Amino acid sequence: MKEVLVIGSGIAGLSCAIRCAENNVRVILVSPQPSERAQSVMAAGGINAVTMQCDECDSVSSHIEDTLRGGSWIAGKNAVTGLCSQAQDIIKYLEHIGTVFSIDSQGQPRRRAFGGQSHKRTYFCGSSTGKQIVSALVMEARRFEAAGLITRKLHTHFHSALIKDGMCYGVLLFDELKRTLTPFYASAVVMATGGQNALFGKTTGSILCDGYAAGRLFMQGALLKNLEFIQFHPTTLETDQKRMLITEAARGEGGRLFYEEGGRRVYFMEDKFGANGNLMTRDIVSREIYATNREVFLDVSFLGDRLIAERLQEVCDLCLKYRGIDICTQPIPVAPSVHFFMGGLAVHLNHETNIERLYAVGECASMYHGANRLGGNSLLAALYGGVVAADDLCQRTAPPHCPSFAQFIAHEERHLAAHLDSKSLFPVTYIRDMLADTMHDCMGIVRTEEGLTEGIDAVEYYQSIAEHLRYDSSVSMYANYSLTGILATAHASLSCALARNESRGAHYRDDAPQSKDGYAYATLVSYDDGAYRTWLDKEQAYES
Ligand SMILES: Cc1cc2nc3c(=O)[nH]c(=O)nc-3n(C[C@H](O)[C@H](O)[C@H](O)COP(=O)(O)OP(=O)(O)OC[C@H]3O[C@@H](n4cnc5c(N)ncnc54)[C@H](O)[C@@H]3O)c2cc1C
Repeated sequence: MKEVLVIGSGIAGLSCAIRCAENNVRVILVSPQPSERAQSVMAAGGINAVTMQCDECDSVSSHIEDTLRGGSWIAGKNAVTGLCSQAQDIIKYLEHIGTVFSIDSQGQPRRRAFGGQSHKRTYFCGSSTGKQIVSALVMEARRFEAAGLITRKLHTHFHSALIKDGMCYGVLLFDELKRTLTPFYASAVVMATGGQNALFGKTTGSILCDGYAAGRLFMQGALLKNLEFIQFHPTTLETDQKRMLITEAARGEGGRLFYEEGGRRVYFMEDKFGANGNLMTRDIVSREIYATNREVFLDVSFLGDRLIAERLQEVCDLCLKYRGIDICTQPIPVAPSVHFFMGGLAVHLNHETNIERLYAVGECASMYHGANRLGGNSLLAALYGGVVAADDLCQRTAPPHCPSFAQFIAHEERHLAAHLDSKSLFPVTYIRDMLADTMHDCMGIVRTEEGLTEGIDAVEYYQSIAEHLRYDSSVSMYANYSLTGILATAHASLSCALARNESRGAHYRDDAPQSKDGYAYATLVSYDDGAYRTWLDKEQAYES
């Protein structure tokens, strides 16, 4: 019987594993933490779909157009068409497995407006859409677990892939408890490891998503795509631990952004863009907030206690808990922060990377969002991508024979052991903190050639010392060995941003503030023995 490895158990990994099991293919689902700890559970705002219950004038083609426009026309049209066309069935499936979407007094599903959308088409479950979807998928996965089709493997990290002559035969997994590497062979490997938050330290997302897996695969020959497109969410709240997301739903429900000048409120988004100004796409709102150079606030108090309690309870709780702010009477101080990565592993329409039998789904893959993602589209993309990959790989036969990886495995084991003995003065946490500062300074909302070049120089310096780091026992062994892959992802991101000498979507260059026709393509980046090469995907090999 065929066996598939799915690495990462957020919504994308669960979706893929369940679909494989439905096709009677055995799956090993690998993650360091249970699904309930994946970043997916943080999703609060909702999931987009045009269904029979939507406004009469809304349509799938309008969802497609909003998505392509939001992504500044560089997402693949075929991919986006598939995504939006299947959205209604995905909502039906989620309801079928027990996801309870919010309804109004007539029993009709509530939908909200998200930035950049022409109609209200975002379904939600109170303030806990991600949690509810994960719970329903986990219950479904357990059913297949009981039938012996899904095996969940916890406390385990992806270490590296077993690749020969452009084909993936399995992976080396790192067991966090035993601190050992073990090879696992499979007829296909699906990466579902999420975004690259660790590059920036404090973000709205989970530190479990660190960009290591993508970086390590990149060093092993996988292509990365569109890494310059990093979404800054315009409304986040500063706390000691992280940037807490103030969901876009707060603006979707009518929340207004303002700053104070001479004792009066300036509603700068409405002044510049009209009545819908607060709901412009995230890249635009983030840049406008940045440009005010002032403390900006979000006011929802006028919505009233009842509506706030009904639809924005989570925002209410987190503002009170972390900052003592009562949003029913006080405005919320907000600032943009890193939130989502449009870029990731380059995949074809079937979600296979340039390495045969290696797939990528969810936020670790780059496919549907172009230069900027619309709120509510990534949960949809994670669910849909998982199904597309599963349907494709389930049709394939197992590879005819598996070559020996003994030499590679011995080399990786020696490398891991040598790491433990290293005598360098720098602990890994120090480099990680330095990297986060570099990325915030050089890959922020506004970029320049000079800043990006400085960023690359800095990362190259960190890379030169990373091989000789002192083992840092204050963090896990994984946190120690993963630094090299994280640095490769950071270098690749800076290289993509430097190569894109224009502004588009979430990528804004102060020294090239306009979009240029010649750049209306995705960026690809490859790694060859320490050399980073970028080019525009003019043939659209990875887009449609
Ligand atoms: C605060 C917040 C709110 C959001 N709200 C919304 C919303 O309302 N609507 C929407 O559409 N999107 C939203 N998003 C985005 C959306 O939640 C994510 O894009 C989506 O959930 C990603 O799912 P995923 O399965 O790809 O990744 P994740 O859920 O991040 O799962 C990644 C998995 O990979 C595992 N993993 C990571 N590294 C390794 C490794 N080396 N080895 C093994 N396993 C590994 C992790 O442990 C985890 O299990 C939000 C994001 C944030 C941060």
